[in-house]
Parts: sequence; C-alpha cells; structure tokens
Amino acid sequence: MRLSIKMYLIIFISASVILYQYHLSNAWLISQNSQEFHVLNPKTNEKLRNVSLFNITSSISNSTRPTTPCFQELEDVLPPLYVITPTYRRPEQLAELTRLSHTLMLVKNVFWIVVEDATSKTPLVGELLKKTGLKYEHLIAPMPEQYRKKKKGPKPRGVSNRNRGLQWIRQNAKTGVLYFADDDNTYDLQLFAEIRYTKRVSMFPVGLITKLGVSSPIVRNGRFSGFYDGWVAGRKFPVDMAGFAVSVEFLLKRPKALMPFKPGFEEDGFLKSLEPFEPQDIELLASNCTKILVWHTQTKKNEPSQPLDFAKYNNTNLVMLKQILV
Ligand code: UDP
Ligand code: MN
Repeated sequence: MRLSIKMYLIIFISASVILYQYHLSNAWLISQNSQEFHVLNPKTNEKLRNVSLFNITSSISNSTRPTTPCFQELEDVLPPLYVITPTYRRPEQLAELTRLSHTLMLVKNVFWIVVEDATSKTPLVGELLKKTGLKYEHLIAPMPEQYRKKKKGPKPRGVSNRNRGLQWIRQNAKTGVLYFADDDNTYDLQLFAEIRYTKRVSMFPVGLITKLGVSSPIVRNGRFSGFYDGWVAGRKFPVDMAGFAVSVEFLLKRPKALMPFKPGFEEDGFLKSLEPFEPQDIELLASNCTKILVWHTQTKKNEPSQPLDFAKYNNTNLVMLKQILV
C-alpha cells in the first residue's frame, strides 16, 4: 500500500516537471521568433502577427498615429483599407495578381476589391482570391463598347473597374481609406501603414514615372509647393493613379465623385470631382515625400500562348496547363 502511494507521488512529480518544461519551451519559442507561430493557438498567432506588423509600421511620421504596440489596439482600431484593383484577362494577369495578393496578405485589416474589365468573372481569378484568405470582393465592369472599339489613341484603362469599386465602397463602407492599386505596380508595406490614417486625401511619390523617374508633390520647407511630373498637360493634379489615397468618409460626403473616361486625365478628373478639395489640402506622406513607397512597374507584354496540339498531347498534363494560359 505504501509503495503504491510513493509510486503515484513519483508519477505526479515527473508529469509536473515535463509539463513545466513544455511550457518553458513554448515561451522560449515565442520570444525567439515572432514570425514562427506553429506551436501556438490561432488567437495567439494573430496577436503575434500584429506585433511583427507593428515593427514594420512603427516608423510612421504623423504624430497623430498610434505609437503603443498594444495587441488589442492593433486588432480593433486599425481603420479598414479598401484596395481597388482593376484587372483584365491577358497572359500576365494571374502572375500580377499572385504577386499583389502576396503583398496584401501581409497587410492587416485590408479589403481587396478586384474588378475585372470583363463581361464575366474569370474562374481562375476567383480561385486565386479564395486562396489568399483575404477579405475580398470579386466584381466585373467591362469597358464601355465605345471606348473598347476605339482604333486610334489611348483607351481609358481600368476606369469602369475603378468606378465600380467606388460604387461598392459607397454601398458597403463607412470608414477607412481607399486606394487604387493597379495589378502590375510594386508596393512597399510601409505605404499601407501610412495611407491608413488619411483624413482627406494623402499623396506621396511614385517611382518609375516618365523620364523624370518619379511623380511627386514638391515639398519646400515642409510644405506643399506644387507637383513634379513629366506630363503636366494643364492638369490641376498632375499625379499618378498610385500616388494618392482617399478617406472613405471624405468620399462619402462627395456623392458625385467619379473617374472620367478621359485617357491621361483620369487622376486629375477624379481628384477634381472631390471638390471642395485643393492641392493645399493634401496630406504629405512618405516622410514629407522623401521616400518612394510605390513603383509604377510595367510587365513586359506576352503574346497569347500557341494552341496545343491535342492529337499529340492528349492525356497529358499539358491539357490542364493550357486551361490556365491565355
Ligand atoms: N486595365 C484594365 N483594362 C484594360 C487595360 C488595363 O482593366 O483594357 C487595368 C490593368 O489591369 C491595370 C490598370 O487597368 O490594373 C492600368 O492599366 P495598365 O497597367 O495597362 O496601364 P499603365 O500602367 O501602363 O498606365
Ligand atoms: Mn500599369
């Protein structure tokens, strides 16, 4: 009888020691690597992800932004970011959307509004969106026939898509910030951290624009003093589509704001339609426009793939691959 009590005691102490060591090893893993959360439950994972993202966003210049890395504050108080992406079916489409989706997957509280210039949704785009785990809306808005048929000169690319995105925001959003993110540009995560606190309209430099290499507000003695852009063309707002963000509340107070089908003047037309709004009202981001947080990259155009010789390759993987290609 005495022996068995001793045995129970030994088993109990051993189990306690093992459990305590397991607890210690988890705590060590957390402190060593906040990017690797495999050992933790989903709630803790989420909190840690916030902390690592806070490290990315902590150098925001505006003093009104939160500065304490509090878990709950980051989760609940972050204003939503509505990213409107126009896209259309072409050989590069899935590659562009894959790249952009991986950027957005690193951004907290983002809502991706993907609008295809098409008469029906591309199923492969739908699958891609689902896979990201992001909050998203998959919409279509074809370019009106009169512009599509145009043989000469530039077309208003992505305008019907962006206007559809604006319509969705008017119907579904109340607060937060909207940003037009073309599918082929390159975005620094810091950009999303900064535009999130836009009160009216914020602006920042865009790299790889015209021969000047950049399009940006000019800042003199810390204040806005004009625009630097290789193609001014009498525009009141000579800026790139990627160079500004707009507060949702600000937009909702301007029910007529829309993007015109006017190639080259889409940004200018939209920003003018936000009146009352003047260049002096712009909020300057990217450390007073001294940094480039977005690049107007352009992917090389690819020819559509050649038809597959089905007689030769029937019953092979190539049949399935061909279904992915344009
Ligand atoms: N786009 C579109 N329909 C078109 C051409 C372009 O929806 O017929 C989209 C495209 O996917 C991109 C945006 O509109 O997100 C701007 O187009 P593009 O990148 O070709 O313009 P660029 O950057 O060369 O001015
Ligand atoms: Mn582009």
